[in-house]
Amino acid sequence: MDKKLSLRKYAQEMDAQDHLKEFRNEFMNNDPQMIYMDGNSLGRLPLKTISTLDDVIMNEWGTQLIRSWNNNWVNAPSELGAKISQLIGANPDEVLVTDTTSTNLFKLATAGLYEKPGRKKIVSDVFNFPSDLYILQGVAKYLNQGHYIELIPSSDDIHIDIDRIKSIIDHDTALVSLSHVAFKSAYMYDMSQITETAHKAGAIVLWDLSHSTGSVPVNLNLCNVDLAVGCTYKYLNGGPGSPAYLYVHRDLQPTLQSPIWGWFADASPFSFKLEFTPTPDIRKFSTGTPHILSMKAISPALDLLLEANIQRLREKSVLQTDYLISLADEWLIPIGFGIGSPRDPKLRGSHISLKHPDAYQINQNMIYGSPSGVKVIPDFREPDNIRLGIAPIYTSFEDIFLAIEAIREIAEQNTYKGYSKQRSAVT
Ligand SMILES: *Cc1c(COP(=O)(O)O)cnc(C)c1O
Repeated sequence: MDKKLSLRKYAQEMDAQDHLKEFRNEFMNNDPQMIYMDGNSLGRLPLKTISTLDDVIMNEWGTQLIRSWNNNWVNAPSELGAKISQLIGANPDEVLVTDTTSTNLFKLATAGLYEKPGRKKIVSDVFNFPSDLYILQGVAKYLNQGHYIELIPSSDDIHIDIDRIKSIIDHDTALVSLSHVAFKSAYMYDMSQITETAHKAGAIVLWDLSHSTGSVPVNLNLCNVDLAVGCTYKYLNGGPGSPAYLYVHRDLQPTLQSPIWGWFADASPFSFKLEFTPTPDIRKFSTGTPHILSMKAISPALDLLLEANIQRLREKSVLQTDYLISLADEWLIPIGFGIGSPRDPKLRGSHISLKHPDAYQINQNMIYGSPSGVKVIPDFREPDNIRLGIAPIYTSFEDIFLAIEAIREIAEQNTYKGYSKQRSAVT
């Protein structure tokens, strides 16, 4: 059998024996010819979300109106937080769904720094999501107490130089704020090791789980993590701009203070008194009225992930990312591509970055269709990364085969040269 046939046959066999294969049918797929490899930026729409939102709009809002606040809405941030807690190894009362990831990072970073007066250093890394770094820069400036940020380097653009960490996290470090899985290379930290290192130095740890939750198991309690944030529209499939979540360790909840004193963080918002008294629990990190419509879209998606089971999702994702790399080794490396993600599955999350000097044009060509008409949706990350996201709950092995075959055709036949290098607003 020729190589190509056997590579495809492997995919078909893996799909046939996949215990999670039925979950694919739980998601909207109106364009079976399109291969979706961007579930790490915007997860697919679960079918159940359509009827859930229809009910929220027609019944809860349309018919029940204001009565729904007491009946269905006011506890949604905590109820959803409790569901997410099962995916990240936290207690139900340690997670709250609210605001955006950026806003939550602002609140928790500020709260953490406030607890460490005198310490000036904030440690992050060169892989962190820019919004996270911008938020930290803003916090350092507006606290106006001489905080500065030191970034852990990478010497290959794929891995973090882990041997440098112990010298960077020191006794002047107040806060260590990192993305657990890096958005570009998919490098994944050993959460337990870094958290322990930070604690030994007396620092607070704040993890961003945006690229982890729903694709890799996370155990915040086991790692003794202080604080965490994450978004719900990537692997959690909560829909565009769905609200984010935050985690605060039980022991820290009574003392930590949110810098935003909104009425939903107050012990009794509807007493309308004139002085703020924060609730002692996680809700002290609420701000104002919750975003009910977008929040209600998150629940059906979480139910699917919980049913699929995060350990099983991770096992599938490792096999799939390994398979993607072996296809790339076979077809793409020889024609000028590089692998921009760790080869060791223990060190990576659930997407693979392929590097190519003309990555943007190839990316556009993939979206509009390969010479044989296969459309693949990846995303592009500056300056040269084609990011292929694998959402094990609905990505099949054959999707991966077809995606890599399309990239090979596009690159071999040079059809991408006809596409503009001009970037769109969202890449
Ligand atoms: C996606 C992502 C965000 C997004 O932040 P928003 O405020 O929701 O736009 C933040 N941090 C990381 C690490 C992300 O991957």
